[in-house]
Amino acid sequence: MENRDYIKSLIYQQNISQDISSCYLYFEALIRSNLLKLKSILPEQFEIFYAIKANPHKEIISFLNHFGCGADVASYGELETVIREGTDPGKISFAGPGKTDEDIKAAVRNNICSLSVESPEEIEKINDIAGQLRKKQNVAIRVNPQKNFSGYGMKMGGYPSPFGIDEDKCPYALKKISESEHLEFTGFHAHVGSQILDADAIGSVFRYLLEYALAVQNQYHFEIQYINFGGGFGIPYYEKQKPLDLKRLQDILKELTDTDEFLKNFPKTRFIIEPGRFLVADAGVYLSKILYIKESRGKKFIVIEGGMHHNLSAFGHLGQVIRRNYHIDVLRFDGQVKETTSDTFDIVGSLCTPLDKLAEHIELTDDVRIGDYICVYNSGAYGYTASPLFFLNHPLPKVNVIKWKKDQDVI
Ligand SMILES: *Cc1c(COP(=O)(O)O)cnc(C)c1O
Repeated sequence: MENRDYIKSLIYQQNISQDISSCYLYFEALIRSNLLKLKSILPEQFEIFYAIKANPHKEIISFLNHFGCGADVASYGELETVIREGTDPGKISFAGPGKTDEDIKAAVRNNICSLSVESPEEIEKINDIAGQLRKKQNVAIRVNPQKNFSGYGMKMGGYPSPFGIDEDKCPYALKKISESEHLEFTGFHAHVGSQILDADAIGSVFRYLLEYALAVQNQYHFEIQYINFGGGFGIPYYEKQKPLDLKRLQDILKELTDTDEFLKNFPKTRFIIEPGRFLVADAGVYLSKILYIKESRGKKFIVIEGGMHHNLSAFGHLGQVIRRNYHIDVLRFDGQVKETTSDTFDIVGSLCTPLDKLAEHIELTDDVRIGDYICVYNSGAYGYTASPLFFLNHPLPKVNVIKWKKDQDVI
């Protein structure tokens, strides 16, 4: 992890009371820095819709709003949240394989930018609901590409999938939409995976979708208004993982878009990406107080007050095939100095299940004491709201968003 010491210094600037047993801290300055990094490599006409399921904290939504981001939502609850936080409905996309009548009604009533259709049946349903509400709804087809993309952490396309419409059924879906009185076809959407660290793999999805949209545009003689390339930009969680090569991605995007032909083909098209994790994951940490340090048959265990019910991803139960240790430090807030030693531990949570294991055989170079805090980095995405918070009915972690101060730049 590149900026681990810097993040540690940001945490130490906070007044963490010893009364707190577990908490999440999200640093806006780090979110802003991720956003600026991403913006700097995107062609200028590209827009960013933040996929709020990664972290739907309202202060984060409104912070990203403030910097011009739209939002990608997947339920009417999420839609209501982003509207409440002031997101422009013209910058909201909505996707998900199981949209209910309530979801669709909320989308139609709020005149959102685009609703992704994910099955032919859904097309009829959206048309009916838009008709009842006497409105016309913008819809994009979420494509499940024929092609199988490699280099993806978590795949959501290129194989039999509940997400999107199979590429070979898209002409049928297109026909259906064009015959629907209350629907307006805008273009295409693809989100084929998550936690992608290979710039070329991401580039191949951009290339695929642009070629596909162009082929449809040429065949049917209309202008594609909207192309949404999805999210999935990954971050390095484990030792030896390398960050996404943004420079490489920039070069690929430039090659695809910086041509006269591109401008001629898509003069008025809106280009969207909808990253979640990339913007917020490394901007958040999860802290939990050490309750016990014990030994069993020669093995040392650190037991923290929190556990997987607070941070399921860090405990390896959200999409990982093999549980690996996140980056972890020991922090001490009581003013006493830590000494350098070296010892190896397993770190476990307080739940009565062997699944509640945060780290295995992790080497800690500080002397560790009861009352110190375990700090889990990269906890800003798919943490709090992606965890089974009520499992075993322990207290919830506190959540605190640390405001960005004007002119505060991340080093
Ligand atoms: C989850 C999701 C995203 C965000 O994924 P990340 O891997 O966090 O970037 C974007 N779009 C859709 C449709 C999603 O379901």
